[in-house]
Amino acid sequence: MPTEFAFIDALKARVRGGEGVRQGIGDDGAVLAPPAGEELVVSTDTLVAGVHFPQDAHPADVGYKAAAVNLSDLAAMGATPRWCTLALTVPSLDPGYVEPLVAGLLALLDAHATALVGGDTTRGPLALTLTAIGSVPAGQALRRNGARPGDAVYVSGTLGDAAAALALRGTRLDPQDGEAKLARTRLAQRLARPTPRVALGQALRGLAHACIDVSDGLAADLGHICRQSGVAAVIEADALPVSRALAPLEIDPARRLRLQLGGDDYELCFALAPEDEAQLAEIAHACHVPLTRIGSLGPGEGVHVLDHAGRVIAPPVAGYEHFG
Ligand code: ADP
Ligand code: MG
Repeated sequence: MPTEFAFIDALKARVRGGEGVRQGIGDDGAVLAPPAGEELVVSTDTLVAGVHFPQDAHPADVGYKAAAVNLSDLAAMGATPRWCTLALTVPSLDPGYVEPLVAGLLALLDAHATALVGGDTTRGPLALTLTAIGSVPAGQALRRNGARPGDAVYVSGTLGDAAAALALRGTRLDPQDGEAKLARTRLAQRLARPTPRVALGQALRGLAHACIDVSDGLAADLGHICRQSGVAAVIEADALPVSRALAPLEIDPARRLRLQLGGDDYELCFALAPEDEAQLAEIAHACHVPLTRIGSLGPGEGVHVLDHAGRVIAPPVAGYEHFG
């Protein structure tokens, strides 16, 4: 088994240096130079085995998801990801586990030119805490509190895949049904390896009045925008975008709506003035992600979901709450 120091040396050898890294892994602290005129955006997320991912999840997926959820928070702030630190707690430094874990993590960080610049390695029950550091031009970070009555509400990508993958886990599947099998694989992929909407977040700077990433479910996360902005949201259930993997599954509409409102999709939900909606087609094209108008904001509070006839059909679903 490698020692902690051998592990850190190996990590250092495979980490790519990033822009603005004066000192990376190897000293008591990292020394980082932010671009002139920019402000730092810092975000931390922890993944605990058995809570955020199953104990038997593939280590490469675990590493990838740890990076994805943190980059997603930076995306929601409109930040450009730059650096990151990793506090890793593992039962052992078994290379069969730790190597793919690090490879999964670095694959996504490298794809976003984000350098791993430090961290800590400790023995204990498996958990990863990543701190992602990004930057935005001064004053341009996207916040949750700037939405206004009259704004349109949009969401990126599709909703419900991750929650559907969780719900389907362990349920029976006809081995002859190739299409269902393929759909399931696609859904599982969305749960294990969500795509942080990094380019979209940056493109929304100066345009979105408020933005959040959907990590606890649309109802809960849009609820945060509403509370912090002092507005109410009216969402049309039929407008919620559904993926091609989820659409053909025979799930009754009420259940599908619950999956779409309560899943950890890591899409961006944002509000903007109706006169600016015309700019979104180009942004969707440039960022390779569909953008769908799902409702609007008005005076009041809370998230209200309407059916095709305009009736309120679902009470807002509470998001995942660790201490609930
Ligand atoms: P110290 O005892 O000074 O805290 P450590 O021995 O914990 O230093 O770590 C040595 C170096 O390796 C430090 O630069 C630290 O940031 C880095 N490091 C340790 N663990 C990790 C990790 N899991 N990921 C990235 N860098 C790490
Ligand atoms: Mg240390």
